[in-house]
This record gives sequence, C-alpha cells and structure tokens, in this order.
Amino acid sequence: MPYNKDVFNTPYYKEPGPKLDKDSPFESMMERFRFAAELLELDEGMFNYLASPVKQVTVSIPIVSDDGQIKVYEGYRVVHDNVLGPSKGGLRFAPDVNIDEVKALAAWMTWKCAVVNVPFGGAKGGVRCNPREMSQRELEHVTRRYTSEMLDVFGPDQDIPAPDMGTNEQVMAWIMDTYSMHSRQTETAVVTGKPIILGGSRGRKEATGRGVVTVTLAALNKMGIMPGKTSVAIQGFGNVGSISAKLMYEQGAKIIAISDVSGAYYNKKGINIPEAIAYVEKNSGTLEGFTDGDKITNAELLELDCDVLIPAAKEDQIDRKNAANIKAKIIAEGANGPVTASADSILDDAGILVIPDILANAGGVTVSYFEWVQDRQGYFWTEERVNRRLNRMMRDAFQLLYDEKEKYNITLRQAAYVYAIQKVSNTLRLRGIYG
Ligand code: GLU
Repeated sequence: MPYNKDVFNTPYYKEPGPKLDKDSPFESMMERFRFAAELLELDEGMFNYLASPVKQVTVSIPIVSDDGQIKVYEGYRVVHDNVLGPSKGGLRFAPDVNIDEVKALAAWMTWKCAVVNVPFGGAKGGVRCNPREMSQRELEHVTRRYTSEMLDVFGPDQDIPAPDMGTNEQVMAWIMDTYSMHSRQTETAVVTGKPIILGGSRGRKEATGRGVVTVTLAALNKMGIMPGKTSVAIQGFGNVGSISAKLMYEQGAKIIAISDVSGAYYNKKGINIPEAIAYVEKNSGTLEGFTDGDKITNAELLELDCDVLIPAAKEDQIDRKNAANIKAKIIAEGANGPVTASADSILDDAGILVIPDILANAGGVTVSYFEWVQDRQGYFWTEERVNRRLNRMMRDAFQLLYDEKEKYNITLRQAAYVYAIQKVSNTLRLRGIYG
C-alpha cells in the first residue's frame, strides 16, 4: 500500500485544531476519510468521487393520522456508493434524523461492507418521525408510503434497506409487501432483517451484537486478557446493547453498567443480564425502575473504570470534551459514530484500543448479506451455519486490520478506512467511469 508518512505531521492529526471542531457525523466521517485518503495518496478525482454520494432523495410522506388529520413527514434515502455491488443500509425512524446524518451513515455503510468483504455498496434511509408516539397503523402507513416513493431506488439488485434505530422486523415486512405488490410478485430479497417466516435469516436479529462480541473477544485475546476477568460497561440496551451484554455475560464477563433513555444503572458486583432483559420485556421496552444497580447518568457510564466500553446507543457520545476521562482499555463501537473525530487522537494517546464502528458493528450487514443470498437461492441455513460464518468473517476482518495497524503503526480505525477506501477505489479503477 502506498503510504505517506508525512500525514502524521499534518496539523489535523497531531493537534486537533479548529478543523476538527465540527463534530457532526458527516464531518467526523469526512475527517477519517480525508486522513486515510492522504495516507493512500488518493488522487483528487478519486477523492471527489468517493466523497460524493451517488444519489440523495428527499420525499414528503403524507398520511392520515388516527385522529383523521393529514400529517406530513420527511423521508430520505442516500445511496453513497454502488461500486462493489447493490447499495445496502438501514432505515432509521427518529425525530431528529436529517440528511447530513443520513449522508454520513450511508458513507459508513460503504466502508463497512468493504471492511467485512461483503459485495455491497453503502446507503442509508431515514424518516423524521417519533415511532414511540405513533400507532402501528400510522407506522404502517408511513412505511408503505415511504417505500412507494422509493420504488425507483429500492430493488434486490439496486438498493436493499434493513432495520436501524426505530425500525424493526415488522417495518421490513411492510417494505417487502409494498415493493412486492408493485412488482406483481413476491420479492423477498428487496429488504433484509425480515421476520424468519417471511424469508428472514436465522441469527439476523442477534447478528450485530454477536459481531460486537466476536471482535471484542479477539481484541481481549490480543491484550492477553481473559474474557471471564473483564468488567464491561454498555451504553444502550436496544437490540445491539442487550445482545452484546448477554453474550459477554455468557463469556463470564462482569457487566457493571447498562443504560437506556431512562438513565444508566451501575452495579460494581455485576448485573444479572438475563434478568435485565426479562425486566425490559415486561416493562414495555425500558429499564425505567430497574433496581439491580445504582442510578447514574449515561455520561457517567462512559467514564466508569472498566476494561471494555461498548457505546451502543447513538452518535457523538465521546468527543473532545470527555475523551480524556475514558478509562476503558477497549472501546467497541456498537453504534455508528459514537466517537467523534475530535476524540480519536485523545483516545489513541491514552493507549485505548478503539474497535471502530465500521468493523465492530458490521455483523448486522454481514448477516443481511447471508439473508439476501438465502432469499435469492430459496434455501435457508441453520442458525449454527449463520453464526459460524459470521464469526469467521468478523474474526478474519479483525485479524486483517489488526495486522495492518501493527505493520503501519496506525490505529485500527485508520487501518479500517485505509483498507475500505483502497478496496473501493481499486474496484472503481477496474470498472472505470462510464460516459
Ligand atoms: N442498520 C445496520 C447498520 O448500520 C444494518 C444495515 C444492513 O443490514 O443493511 O449496519
């Protein structure tokens, strides 16, 4: 790999100056991209190609709400890139989602698919709405209208959505049905993360958390730490956080803190995770009122003295203001973008091993790829086969990037970006530019 050492002396790497003041997800993504591009001595044309999304679609989504009023929501789909194959990425329902965030998340999907060697480009979608305040009927209407507005974008060989924050298997089932009604045939492969009965894959629901744990164990192994001797703090107790907690707990790790929107819960003796999961299931999906731990804040959780910190909630949780207070030895990014670019060098200087999002949480899209393959073959795998192949792909990706990190004395995040950008740009050179 062509390798420009001078980049380490560039001011934005060594001294987080004003250039790094922007902590938006898109700027954070671009800072890492710029750094890797310089390291690779990427030419300006290639840089511009990879920095520009292929497609950005914004639509209005009108529905008739339960009280008979017309309500209009805004929906987005950004296809960042489709060099490696059809674009792939989740659909997010959240009250604050915006095009800037979706652009960053779409680019992260490109790098994520490249890192785990899945033959997809990257995309992301969002609808600015609050699913917690909407009925099932309203959610169904929003999903179906959004899908019908995206009929020209979506397709099993074009662009394939999946669940993300605020969406679930049911939403994927509605997307599949709406798309299929318009194509006059059942098209299961147009979306992943579906219920198993509708062509979903075994193991998909647990895949992101399982992948987080696979790479965390690989990192602990590199550091010579036994999983059974670790203390773990996990921010976020949704799909990714709770499954990561459960699997680390099964490894014998002590989970000293968990959290959700209701706050964080700290127990230095370790929280009983199966009980916490059962509590959330009974308590309409929240940890509110959970008593197996002292109540602390989400911000305090991040600064706990622990071996492994898994931020599995949302973007921008660790930035230049709190990075110096982080005490974990390993940060495994369960969420997308939980660490801003301005915090990267602070964590690196402190000797913390950060397993970047585009590697750590890539288990979800890896099993999405398996789901797409199974749908197209009409042949479905056992859970054991899914998990075995997932673990292998995650472990291989970790090992490959770890070797690059050691060889070039860069961070794991830089190694991931360099690998991904190199892969996509080499593929683009072979395909060439049409027109
Ligand atoms: N939303 C998930 C992610 O951010 C999964 C995407 C997919 O499976 O396509 O990786």
